[in-house]
Amino acid sequence: MITTVLPTYNRAPMAFVKGECSWLTAEDGSRYLDLGAGIAVNSLGHANPALVAALTEQAGQLWHVSNLYRIPQQEKLAEMLVDKTFADTVFFTNSGTEACELAIKMARKYHFDNDMADRIEIIAFEGAFHGRSTGAIAAAGSEKMVKGFGPLMPGFKQLKWGDHDAIRAAITTRTCAVMIEPVQGEGGIRVVPDQCLKGLRDLCDETGTLLIFDEVQCGVGRTGKLFAHEWAGVYPDIMMVAKGIGGGFPLGAVLATENAASGMGAGTHGSTYGGNPLGCAVGAKVMEIIADDAFLDAVSRKAAQFRQGLEGLVASHPTVFEAVRGQGLILGLKCKAANTDIVKAAYAEHLLTVPAADNVLRLLPALNIPEDDITEALARLDRTALRIEAA
Ligand SMILES: *Cc1c(COP(=O)(O)O)cnc(C)c1O
Repeated sequence: MITTVLPTYNRAPMAFVKGECSWLTAEDGSRYLDLGAGIAVNSLGHANPALVAALTEQAGQLWHVSNLYRIPQQEKLAEMLVDKTFADTVFFTNSGTEACELAIKMARKYHFDNDMADRIEIIAFEGAFHGRSTGAIAAAGSEKMVKGFGPLMPGFKQLKWGDHDAIRAAITTRTCAVMIEPVQGEGGIRVVPDQCLKGLRDLCDETGTLLIFDEVQCGVGRTGKLFAHEWAGVYPDIMMVAKGIGGGFPLGAVLATENAASGMGAGTHGSTYGGNPLGCAVGAKVMEIIADDAFLDAVSRKAAQFRQGLEGLVASHPTVFEAVRGQGLILGLKCKAANTDIVKAAYAEHLLTVPAADNVLRLLPALNIPEDDITEALARLDRTALRIEAA
């Protein structure tokens, strides 16, 4: 008999009742150290007092009015994002998937309005993840996500990851945009080298193609810069944001240059909930805390400590782990043993990690995780590896 909750997830049996920074308390009272942060969502840890205050203060005033009216909280957050990024304008969504949908629409509308209506094709990459809507699965194109859900939205092409010549050859007079994660998350924490992002930007400029960065997972301070592409000094025309921007409240955004967004006038897009006062009040507090040089420097310091410890684990457990990947606090351990077995063994050590493709163990702690908790996490990962070796 089907479960009352649609069984689309293979869930671990634990249920959590309370959280505090990097720790979760389960129903039985036991505590778990959380290196998943709700899949890079709880960027400032669980029950962060500043976010709780921002949310509850707004909750006592006004929850929702719709986008029929001005929403000052939304305007404030948009200004903060525009102020700190390449973007001139922002549309708020409730998720990364919705951000992906708008990015696709915006890119196609741009060419349509510039009398190039046949430039509809969007180039994406193998291993990419852009969400679960029909458009987002067509963009990523993996068999696992699309099988049985056809016919797919046409106009997408996937290229091999890191094949520069293939990209140059794939851009034609029908190409609308290139969509890429500067650090692939679900695909196995694969960092796109700075040179590749630069080459991609040049190629897009040469051919009038729009460049879309999906920073839903790697953005909002996770790499030690506010957005991952800042490391390369390469800027997109359109960017998808979600996960960490809400710190746990459902919030996403599409950021764009004035030029790329020029086709999106009144009536071209909308969302009932998008940019509601609750989400934007929390998002503004998240931005206030994370978009700060001292905070971002601390992320890089914590990341260096964590990474050094992880390199040590690879050296001491060569049959379990193979290599460390990632940038800042979006880290991956490429595994020799099956990553799903390691995730389970980590549960036994009361440590939460997230599997990714390419047999990678994903480590995405809260960006403000205390150094002592990183030390504790490394000890638990060490014991996890011992369990695998003993099995
Ligand atoms: C999670 C994710 C999405 C989809 O976001 P949802 O909020 O789950 O819709 C899109 N792109 C990337 C890179 C992601 O990690």
